[in-house]
Amino acid sequence: MSVFGLGCLLNRHDPDRKQVRWNGYDYVGECRHCGAPIVRHSRRNWRKQEAKSEPTDGAAG
Ligand SMILES: [Zn+2]
Repeated sequence: MSVFGLGCLLNRHDPDRKQVRWNGYDYVGECRHCGAPIVRHSRRNWRKQEAKSEPTDGAAG
């Protein structure tokens, strides 16, 4: 019935554990339900990453 988890609608996502990695500041990954980029706020508390206002044009290495 549901395509995404109900949590996704409430901005409570579940990480795909294979995708989770430490970026030096936070654990980040992708939601295994909706594929959104997510960041860990606390244990079992994953929220969608906020969009950055800076343009990302792929120049940074
Ligand atoms: Zn989700």
